[in-house]
Amino acid sequence: MSGRDDHSLELTQCPECDALAEVLARFTLASTEGLVEHVRVTCLNKHGFVMPAERLVPERLVAEPSQRHQARARRRRD
Ligand SMILES: [Zn+2]
Repeated sequence: MSGRDDHSLELTQCPECDALAEVLARFTLASTEGLVEHVRVTCLNKHGFVMPAERLVPERLVAEPSQRHQARARRRRD
């Protein structure tokens, strides 16, 4: 499981089935509270979602081991 160079690959957790999911895109949408960053994700079971970026569950960030540690700590608080 090494040797990959997808440095920008961002993984999260599917809100529907808890499988590993990949963030495909980030974009902003206008809301009543102004521009809100949204993400498009798809999981291993082919579920697709668009949701606010702040609701993402950071499973691991491949490029940044330090952020990966933070993500695991954050998940533990749930
Ligand atoms: Zn899913």
